[in-house]
Amino acid sequence: MTASARFCLRLATLAGAAFCTAAYAQTAGKPAPVYTPTPSFDLSSIDASVNPCNDFYKFACGHFAANHPIPADQPGTDSFYNLFNVNTQELRGILDAAAAGGADRSVNARKIGDFYHACMDTAAIDADGLKPLKPLLSEIDSMDQLEIATVAGKLQRIGVTVLFSYGEQQDFKDAAKQIASIDQGGLGMPEKDFYLRTGAKDVELRKDYVAYITKMLTLSGTPANEAATDANDIMEFETKLAKASMGITERRDPDKVYHLVPVSDVTQYFPMGTFGRFEEAVHSPRVTEINDANPAYIPALVSTVRDTDIETLRAYMRFHLLSAEAANLPKAFDDATFEFYDHDLGGSTEQRARWKRCSYQVDGALGEALGQVYVQQYFAGDSKAKMLTMVHDIEDAMDRDIDTLDWMSAATKLRAKEKLHAVANKIGYPDHWRDYSSLTVSPTDAVGNAMRAAAFESDRELNKIGKPVDHNEWDMTPPTVNAYYNPSMNDINFPAGILQPNFYDPKADLAVNYGHIGAVIGHELTHGFDDEGKKFDAKGNLADWWTPADTAAFEKKTGCLVDEYNQFVPVDDVHVNGKLTLGENTADNGGLVLAFMAYLDRAKQEHLDIDAKVDGYTGPQRFYIAFAQNWCSNERPEALRTGAMTDPHSPDQFRTNGPIVNQPGFAGAFSCKAGAPMVPANSCRVW
Ligand SMILES: [Zn+2]
Repeated sequence: MTASARFCLRLATLAGAAFCTAAYAQTAGKPAPVYTPTPSFDLSSIDASVNPCNDFYKFACGHFAANHPIPADQPGTDSFYNLFNVNTQELRGILDAAAAGGADRSVNARKIGDFYHACMDTAAIDADGLKPLKPLLSEIDSMDQLEIATVAGKLQRIGVTVLFSYGEQQDFKDAAKQIASIDQGGLGMPEKDFYLRTGAKDVELRKDYVAYITKMLTLSGTPANEAATDANDIMEFETKLAKASMGITERRDPDKVYHLVPVSDVTQYFPMGTFGRFEEAVHSPRVTEINDANPAYIPALVSTVRDTDIETLRAYMRFHLLSAEAANLPKAFDDATFEFYDHDLGGSTEQRARWKRCSYQVDGALGEALGQVYVQQYFAGDSKAKMLTMVHDIEDAMDRDIDTLDWMSAATKLRAKEKLHAVANKIGYPDHWRDYSSLTVSPTDAVGNAMRAAAFESDRELNKIGKPVDHNEWDMTPPTVNAYYNPSMNDINFPAGILQPNFYDPKADLAVNYGHIGAVIGHELTHGFDDEGKKFDAKGNLADWWTPADTAAFEKKTGCLVDEYNQFVPVDDVHVNGKLTLGENTADNGGLVLAFMAYLDRAKQEHLDIDAKVDGYTGPQRFYIAFAQNWCSNERPEALRTGAMTDPHSPDQFRTNGPIVNQPGFAGAFSCKAGAPMVPANSCRVW
């Protein structure tokens, strides 16, 4: 992961393995489940015996967990996961038809069909063994000190991040420019503190990780004793890299991960011009300047590599290659990877069905080819226009909200509005689709396809260095159940995949849609003005447009949120990290305020009687219940623990009550008395 910032609605990855691409073998004879959307207004989740003024999450979601046991193949379940399953099922329909040679014989249809077919053919994958990786494995086995950079470049090009990470980003201080970026990387556990924390669970996870490395090396032919020694040496090596790495909370500060320097400042540490070998192997253009995101890292890495014997470095590279490609290697590799990333870190007890994982692999590799068919079939013609109306309503609400802020000066308000008015709204899918004509896809080579697709994507990214920015570009594929704000682009992005029930439902009433997707829109928009977003201006440049007094007032306000969220305890004695989650919590709180303002305004324009009850609830009540039901969840303790330590988002359940206690409209909607648990005297308010 390079230093470019993206603020998403929720985490897209769990524990290093992609949220949607981790390992699986379908249980024979078990019928495939049929996934249906969560109701847009879910009466079955409401526990009416709970007073909404005392615990709104328990009221709106009290029956959710009992009604929705966690499927064995998931770390938890919630609205997002459910819609993700629905969308994956739809992708499967498209892919089954394409793989069978359906009516659409376009180049793209053949590519997605062939990719899916090869991925599903586990008999061929098992028969091939490690044959497709042989050339790379031999290169690793014969690698000497001077060839390390070359091998690292080849591995990074196919998506195997070893030693450090290298990529492209928009220049934080000149958003019109695309530059190279070098950063920490190369760890197999989720982030640095997993190597350093001292609790019993942490020690246990480190043992699990060493066992996983041992298993993968043994499976690839290393004798068992040697594999165990190698695994301990790899652990020791990665621990040194972890110590030189920056922590995730610190990395949220864009100033701390931006150091544009002449490339010689970095290459001087690489022995004997080997950075040039790396650039060549990773297919990067030669660069003259680079963002050295964590300047302490490369010198520490280079001296650690110098002090580590070559056998350990070979084993490290071998392990990371096997681990990254495991989903398309024989079953034993796939199972071992599931065991560590999904079971030990996420608590799942069963691998996801192959069709789910292969659908998601095609989405990752050929997302805009598959996505093009997906939006034709599942994103109705007027959805984009309707969504745009809601986005404008919420942007108008923010405009009015800025006027009313008592803590911000007129000068900063002007600049805030300038930024707000410059936000680009991207809805559903890109205006121009990506061209995959140069990507070779074989119907019989699953791991080859995965590696070629990763190289295609890496080349596409690195090819942007030195070129003008394409504002049409999307960082998520159309079927994705997520949304994001990109501060360098100053744009908000809502893929077609989340513009589906229960988040957006053309058949639902205004209150319900504004509570669900309206709060999501408000969330993304508020990211432009959270503690990270505020540091970027209307053009996407890292530039301070605040008066010092306004920043001081802002920090006092956000400090209130840090204290509030620090108190939440999702599992055992693990607290939410209020500083790590501050940006997301600010977005959740502000987004809900804006969505409610926009809802009331739209209802007035349409002459709706908001006090009229539907299903027993008024409009404002339905709005807040719909919002809360975005976050009804049932999660495994392992996933809660890993999430609290790695995820900049608070756990689902706190994404309801966390913002609810700070909502000016909530007490009125449910006639709560001041001082009730959901209407505390000392509430927090930023936006
Ligand atoms: Zn977010």
